[in-house]
This record gives sequence, structure tokens and C-alpha cells, in this order.
Amino acid sequence: MKKQLAAGMVRGKTGIHLFEVPMPEIKQPDEVLIRVKEVGLDGTDFNAIRFNLQDIGEGRDEMVMGHEAVGVVEATGPGVKSFKPGDPVTITVRRGCDICHPCLHNMSDMCMTGLYRERGLHRLDGSLTRFVIEREQYVIKVPAEVVKWAVFSEPLSIVEKGVEQIRIIQSRLPWTCDHPEHTFLSPRWGGCKTALVVGAGPLGLLAIALLTISDIKVFVADILPEDHPRVRLAKGMDATYIDARSISPKEIVADCCLNANLDIIFEASGAAATAVGLIPHMSRSSIYVMTGIPREELMIQIDAARLVRQIVRFNQVIVGSINSNRTHFERALQDLKQITSRFSSLPVAPVIHRWKLEDSERAFATQDPAHIKTVIEVEPW
Ligand SMILES: [Zn+2]
Ligand SMILES: [Zn+2]
Repeated sequence: MKKQLAAGMVRGKTGIHLFEVPMPEIKQPDEVLIRVKEVGLDGTDFNAIRFNLQDIGEGRDEMVMGHEAVGVVEATGPGVKSFKPGDPVTITVRRGCDICHPCLHNMSDMCMTGLYRERGLHRLDGSLTRFVIEREQYVIKVPAEVVKWAVFSEPLSIVEKGVEQIRIIQSRLPWTCDHPEHTFLSPRWGGCKTALVVGAGPLGLLAIALLTISDIKVFVADILPEDHPRVRLAKGMDATYIDARSISPKEIVADCCLNANLDIIFEASGAAATAVGLIPHMSRSSIYVMTGIPREELMIQIDAARLVRQIVRFNQVIVGSINSNRTHFERALQDLKQITSRFSSLPVAPVIHRWKLEDSERAFATQDPAHIKTVIEVEPW
């Protein structure tokens, strides 16, 4: 049997390891064989290794990691209609439980049983290898204009889902100003709105990009100095930076809304104290979407009566958002065109740390704060 190099977890061992897995072959008519080009690593990957969160499938001793994959179609099964060899593609992450209605209707991101699996994260092999097989329904074509940015399509799809949740839920507010096209479901929905993004990490920066191209006035809070590369990128996308190192959540909010409404809080830091600390300072009728995932335990004391009173009296919404489905990937790839053309002068390349597949162990061990993204370059474009 032909074998190929892969990087991932090994049962009973800590850290990331290189091992060999069988070379995949097309066995079903709807399968697509993909030659992997680039795989992005994110906080979930780093945390899985750091906290040894092994989630390997039953009957296996290894799990290939990598869920932010871009590649090109190498071959297709006889039933595949939408792809041909050479097409640049990306793949979704979650595979549904096949039991609940959201999963049965292509919305496994909203799975109700928790029995889903995720490529490279949860009981299914990911893409840190040379070739992967995927069913046509989970493969998405990458437009030629954004091929070199397509490694951002998975994290951007996460942001797309968060923003979609905001728009669906806030469509309860048909008027926020006099402009008839500034309602949440209108194409020009962002007009006259203000958002606070918490965390200038990869997800926070993509949230800034997406909210800014939607005409929203964006503020971003983090605990980084003004001259940090991530802060420079945020400012380059017209976001106003709030250095949250020595100010309270109340002051963070006061800084960005200046007594007006703060329509949206987009939490992308996973810093639990700040995430919860901002709730008492939400505006009336506003929405707070949480996407960051805190890892360690944190106990805090709150005035629960006051908090509940406020959420009820002010019609506030706090919503969690995880994962994404095919529609969010498709939207992300369309919006990537707009984001990359609008912010084409931003120095993104220097903040991406590129490694070869063979160097995956070092890639996981290195966390240079000057870099915003780690990418394993399996094969150059
Ligand atoms: Zn399900
Ligand atoms: Zn307006």
C-alpha cells in the first residue's frame, strides 16, 4: 500500500508527531481527490496540542490534524459534476450526525446531538498531509482571484456565521436610524452602526475586515501595544484601537460608543473575564456574539439580579456561534475578493509564518507574537 507523510496526534503521546498514513484512493462516485497546498493552523490546533486534548477516532491510534485546508483537485469520481482536475478548492470541517434535522439539512454547524465529527479536530483525519479524499458536497471551489488568500476561508467562514447570526437576530429591529436600507437584512445593513471587536487575533482581524466592508464603524480592544503588527493591521483596516491593558470593560465601551448605542460586540479573544465583564455595559437592544473559547477555569463574582434585570429591560441578546457550513464558506470566498481588493496595500505576507509539512513539530512549538497566522505549506502553488 502506498503511504504518505502526515502530521498529527498519536494516542498516549503528547505533542505533534510525523507519521505515515495510507495514500487515499477514490472509492465512491461522489469523491474528490485533493492535492493539499496549504493548511492554516489556529488557536484550536495550538490549544489541542498544548492542553493535550486528544480526540482521536475509535479504532485509531493517530489523528491527522489541520482543518484550514486549500488544495487543487487531483482526480474525481465518476459522479462528480462540479469539479475537474486542477480546480482550486477548500473543504468544510464538520461532518453531521445524520440524526438531527439541522445535520440532515446541511446545517451540521447547528447540530443538536453533538454526535458530529470534525476533520482534524474531532475524531476525523484532517489535511496536514499530501492528499485527502472528500465528498463533493463538502468541497468548495475557490475563485481564481483569491487563491493565495484562500487559507483564510475557514476562519472567515466562522466570522461570516457570527455576522449572519447578528443579522438574523437583529432583523427584529426594523429601524435603527432614518435610512430605510440600514436594516440588518439589507445589503447596506452596516450603515450608521458601531461594533466593538474584542481581540485582534486572526479571527478578530477578519471580523474587523468583514464589518468594515459592511460600512460599520469598528473599534477593536486588545492588550497589545499600539505598534504591535496586529494592531497596525487593525488600524490599516480603519478600526480604532483601544488599548485595554489598563482600563475597565466599562471604559472600553465608553471609548467606542461616546454615549451613543454600541450595536454589536463581537468577542473573538476567548478571554473569559473580559468577555463576561463587557455584558453589564451592553447598549439597549444590542447584540453580543461570542466566538472565542476560553480553556482554563475562571471563577468570578457577579450581581446576578442586576445582570438579569438589565438583559430583560434592555432587550439584549447574547449569542454563541461555533463552526460554519457550506453557505458560510461560499460567502467567505466571495467576501475575500472584496476584502483583499479593499485592503490590498496591507502588509499581510510578513505576518504569516510559513513552514513545510516536515517541520510541523517546529511550527507547533513556535509562537512568535509578531506573526498572526501559521501556515503549513504542503506544496508551493
Ligand atoms: Zn446533528
Ligand atoms: Zn442609518
